[in-house]
Amino acid sequence: MIGVVGLGQMGGAMLRRLRAEGQLVLGFDLDPGLREAARQAGAVACASPIGVAAPLVVFSLPHAAAVQAVLAALLPHLPPGAVIADTSTIEPAQARLFADQADAAGVAYLDAPVSGGPAGAASGQLAMMVGGSARALERVRPALLLLAARIMHVGESGAGQVAKLANNLLVATHLAAAAEALRVAARAGVPPEAILPVINAASGRSAATEVNWPRWISSGSFDSGFTAGLMRKDVRLALALAAEVGAELSVCGAAAAVWAESPVADGEEFNRVAAGIFGG
Ligand code: NAD
Repeated sequence: MIGVVGLGQMGGAMLRRLRAEGQLVLGFDLDPGLREAARQAGAVACASPIGVAAPLVVFSLPHAAAVQAVLAALLPHLPPGAVIADTSTIEPAQARLFADQADAAGVAYLDAPVSGGPAGAASGQLAMMVGGSARALERVRPALLLLAARIMHVGESGAGQVAKLANNLLVATHLAAAAEALRVAARAGVPPEAILPVINAASGRSAATEVNWPRWISSGSFDSGFTAGLMRKDVRLALALAAEVGAELSVCGAAAAVWAESPVADGEEFNRVAAGIFGG
């Protein structure tokens, strides 16, 4: 039995994946429409976070304030030894605080942010980076493997979030840089469809050129399921972390400014920011 809290793009895909793998799933979201979708997917739709109390509860929430609200309601109701795997992307310091709160309630809280998007969640191919008790992780690893093909224990509480923020700072920077390089080439007479196979066979390649550009930008689909607003959040958290530890960011800082200033709205798909840079 597995609880899932937050049934949006990621949490909804995780819930359906767990159901497809034969798990009994308890789901909660503030949005009644998403609770109904969970019920139709064969999960037990709960009317409050208390209902999802189970030996393993997976969170997929937009920010730390939502995690705090759910924890406050749920912690007193979890069985002793339960594990919370929080796949939300939040501040590492918040993750450490939540781990302490959970510990005081006899529960393990793992920061377990993920990469791979809703498609990765739906196919069980996420990459999961975990901070917190290695022993707690081992207890729930078989269940988490239904969602994530690669589960990496990074270190103490907060270390998973540090890894995620560093990763997504790179994603944001790579996308902006790829858009500019492709714009130069296009203006010089070599369009993306001609240069992308070259870059992807050469040393300039990245996920931006190998995955994002062909799958979501050139195709015009823009259906990754990840919004510009969530990417901006990740970049903001990475900048805050850099400031906290006194690490200067000149290249990534410039990319962060491009993301902040892009006219693409927070609710739009995040690759539209790169498309805008390319076309701008
Ligand atoms: P989303 O906005 O689609 O879903 C978040 C859900 O949380 C919403 O349905 C919302 O109603 C629900 N929610 C908010 N507060 C709540 C509360 N107090 N109790 C219960 N439910 C609550 O977002 P998403 O794209 O699914 O992302 C979720 C998390 O995963 C974010 O932290 C995001 O940064 C991270 N993430 C997203 C992706 C992606 O590709 N979408 C990839 C990796 C990581």
